[in-house]
Amino acid sequence: MRFIHDSLPQRVRFASGEAREQLAQEIDELGASRAMVIAAPAERPLAERITAGLPIAVEHDDVAPHVPVEVAERARAVAASENVDVLVTVGGGSTTGLAKAVALTSGVPIVAVPTTYAGSEATNVWGLTEGSVKTTGVDPRVLPRAVVYDAELTLSLPIELTVASGLNALAHCIDSLWAPRADPINAAMASEGIQSLASGLPRLVNDPSDLDGRELVLHGAYVSAVAFASAGSGLHHKICHVLGGMFDLPHAQTHAVVLPHVLAFNGSFAPNAEARIAAAFGAPTANEGLRRLREALGSPRALKDYGLPEDGLAAAAAATVPLVPAGNPAPVTEDGLVELLHAAWAGEEPK
Ligand code: NAD
Repeated sequence: MRFIHDSLPQRVRFASGEAREQLAQEIDELGASRAMVIAAPAERPLAERITAGLPIAVEHDDVAPHVPVEVAERARAVAASENVDVLVTVGGGSTTGLAKAVALTSGVPIVAVPTTYAGSEATNVWGLTEGSVKTTGVDPRVLPRAVVYDAELTLSLPIELTVASGLNALAHCIDSLWAPRADPINAAMASEGIQSLASGLPRLVNDPSDLDGRELVLHGAYVSAVAFASAGSGLHHKICHVLGGMFDLPHAQTHAVVLPHVLAFNGSFAPNAEARIAAAFGAPTANEGLRRLREALGSPRALKDYGLPEDGLAAAAAATVPLVPAGNPAPVTEDGLVELLHAAWAGEEPK
């Protein structure tokens, strides 16, 4: 065994029903007095519930998926003109992503309160989209100083998005097993994440108000994101990153559809990862474990349902090839990627 592993410095507070108190304590400990509360319009009621009483300088709801640069510039201007000293996010990955764009240029610390299972709050990765090109980077300034997890805040997440977002978290686990910095520590996190998500998500489909199930999935989403932050982006994330930037596809649903195709593509070339995933699912094979889970969840199946044009597949494959990590288990060719993308576009069973 030989590896180098970085653990990211971040406090996690996990307490269902207590986001307001936990957030207030965190702001107090930071000594902050001018908070910029960032929450998209759909997240505003949640933000109002938990930020009352904080020293708020400004509330900002100009949030957009994939953080377009012009949206980032507007948020940076507001943060500067209001002289804010902490960024409080209440929302999904788009909201957290916007705060990261502000932190990247200002160094203002973030306290994140996630309301989906995207996991951005646990990573030091930022993303910005200019035109149809999404750029990502790593910077310690964008890692939230603290995260407050309150599963009650995810109760309002519609079930379709709950499923897609949960499968996005699952993709963090699976991709981290063959990503460039895969190591035994993040592999252990990935196993824990797969188990939590695979047992929690079906409970939410049966009863979206099952708070214990929501906690299980939120915990799974956090450890998944820690594994992903440590291991880096593998083939799955490179494909979804290109698709999201080029065609403005919804993030979580894109991950949910593409994941089984990448697992089938790489699995037989990565026997250790395959065995770990199968064991975490409690299934005879990794592919079968994911197939059963997706069936139980009524998972999204076809990218054509989310706006991907068939005539864009070749361009997406060509743009992905140069990004594929050198150590990807299966050999990747442009033709192989077109075939994979076509199956994901059409909603076919993974080959
Ligand atoms: P999102 O943040 O766009 O949220 C989807 C929709 O759900 C939005 O309309 C949002 O307002 C709404 N919503 C969120 N929480 C809700 C709740 N509890 N109740 C009701 N509605 C709610 O989507 P996402 O999947 O959370 O995040 C996707 C973005 O996150 C992408 O841009 C992706 O690139 C980024 N991301 C970044 C990282 C990273 O490490 N940098 C990791 C994962 C995702």
